[in-house]
Amino acid sequence: MSQPLKVLYLAAEAAPYAKVGGLADVAGSLPKALRALGHDVRLALPRHKAVDGARWKLKLAAAPFPVPVGADHKMTEALEGAAEGVPAYLIWDEHYFGRDRVYGYDDDAQRFVFFGRAILAFIKQSGWQPDVIHANDWHTAFVPTWLATAGKADPFYAPIATAYTIHNVTYHGTTGKAILPFAGLEGHVHHLEVEPPGAVNWMARGIYHSDVINTVSKRYAQEILTPEFGAGMEGLLKHRHAERRLCGILNGVDYDQWNPATDPHLAQRFNSESLDARALNKAALQREAGLPVREGAPLIGFISRLVDQKGVDVLSTVLDRLFARDVQFVLLGAGEKRHEEIFGALPKRFPNKAAVFLKFDAALAQKIYGGADIFLMPSQFEPCGLGQMIAMRYGSVPVVRATGGLADSVSDLDAANATRKGTGFTFGDYTSDAFWNTLERALDVFRDKKTWRGLQERCMKADFSWNASAKKYEELYRKAIEFHKSS
Ligand code: ADP
Repeated sequence: MSQPLKVLYLAAEAAPYAKVGGLADVAGSLPKALRALGHDVRLALPRHKAVDGARWKLKLAAAPFPVPVGADHKMTEALEGAAEGVPAYLIWDEHYFGRDRVYGYDDDAQRFVFFGRAILAFIKQSGWQPDVIHANDWHTAFVPTWLATAGKADPFYAPIATAYTIHNVTYHGTTGKAILPFAGLEGHVHHLEVEPPGAVNWMARGIYHSDVINTVSKRYAQEILTPEFGAGMEGLLKHRHAERRLCGILNGVDYDQWNPATDPHLAQRFNSESLDARALNKAALQREAGLPVREGAPLIGFISRLVDQKGVDVLSTVLDRLFARDVQFVLLGAGEKRHEEIFGALPKRFPNKAAVFLKFDAALAQKIYGGADIFLMPSQFEPCGLGQMIAMRYGSVPVVRATGGLADSVSDLDAANATRKGTGFTFGDYTSDAFWNTLERALDVFRDKKTWRGLQERCMKADFSWNASAKKYEELYRKAIEFHKSS
C-alpha cells in the first residue's frame, strides 16, 4: 500500500461516547475502518457531560494547556480514550461541555468554535501533525476555516490539508459576527455572499474553505446542487463542484456491531442461510409489542427521529388505508410533539394492529430490525440514511422514497423483471398515493413467499460495510493533500 496517512477526524458526537443520530454512528465506525486499512486516524470530540469517563477508561492526555479565546487564554484539558481501538481525544471544559445535551444551546456556535480552537492547540503542543484534518458538519467547520486563513502563517499548521463532510446541509450554525474575534478570525475572513448581513454561516464556511468537500451519498451530492435540496448552499456548492472538489461517498455500517448472527438482543440469531429462524424474532417482537403472534400478518417497522424530514406526514396520510388491510405496525421514535401525538394515538385507534414506542431505545431498535418484515423510510430528503441499510442487513425489506442515500442503497423489485433483482420497493413523488401504491405493492409481494425470501436474501447479501467506502475516503484525503499543495 502507498504511504499511510495521519488523519484527525473531528465530530460533535461519536459512538460509543455520545450519540444523538447517524453522525455518531459514522464517526464511531469510519475511523475504525480507516485504521484497518493501515492509516493513523484519530478521533476528536468534546467530552460532553454524558460521556461515561469510567466506562471508556478516559485518562488525561496531557497537562492542562492554554487555548486562545479572543484576546485571552483558557486552560483546558484533553482526555484520551481508545474505544474500538481508535485513539480519541475528548476536549473538556466545564462551562462549554458540562451540559445535559450535545446540541441545542444558544451559544452552540461558541461552544463548537472553542472545541476547534482547543483541538488545534492540543495537536500543536503534543507535536502530532496530521496530514489531513477531516471536519464534519457545521460544528467543526471552524477548523478548516481557521487553517485556510489565520492559521496559514504558522509552519506547524500550514501543511495540513482539510476535508469537510456534509451530513445534512440544512443545519447551518448561523451566528452573529461577534464570533469572529472569539474565533481568532477577525481581519482574516471576508463576508460570503450567502451569509446574511452581520452573520457567519459555519456550513458555508466549511464548504468555502476546505480543500475537498463530500457528502454521504452520490445522489445527495447531486441533489444539494439544486434549490430544492441545497438549503441556500447550492450556489457555493456548484462553484466547488465545478472545481472538482465535491463528491458523494455512501456511508457504511459497522458490520461487527450490526450483525444478526451475533446480536445479543435477538431472541434467535440468524444469517441469510437460516432465514426460517427469523420467525422466532418476529414472534418475540409481536409479544413485546402486545400484538397477536401471527406469522402470516406482515409486520411493518418504522424507527426514526419524528421530524418532517423523515416523511412522517406522508406516513400519517396513508394510515387509514394501511390499517384497512391485515397488517401489524411497530413504531419506535421520538421527536416533535405534534408527530408524537398523532402516532401515540394509533394503538387505541387500531388495536391489535399498531404498537407505538415514543422513546430512544437501542435494544428495541435491534429487535425491530430483526423481526419486522418490512421497514419504512419515506423520507422527504435523506443524505444517506442508515436505517434502511441496517434493516437490509437484518432481512427486513425496505420501502423507501428514492431520494439521497435511499436511492443509492435500495433498488426496486421490478415486478416485470423475471430475474428479480431488487432489494426493496421505492417510490419517487413525495405524495400519499405514490407511497401507498408502493407499500401496497410490497404487501402483495409479501404473500408470495418464494419471491419474498429471494428479496430478503439479496438484502442480507448486499454489502454496506465500510469496506468500499473507507477506500474512497482514503482517495479523498489524497486528493485533499494534492489540492492543498497546489493552493
Ligand atoms: P438520522 O441520522 O437522520 O437520524 P439515520 O438513518 O442516518 O438518520 O440514522 C439513525 C440512527 O439512529 C440509526 O442507527 C437508527 O437505528 C437510530 N435511531 C433512530 N431513532 C431511534 C430510536 N427512537 N431508538 C433507537 N434508535 C434510533
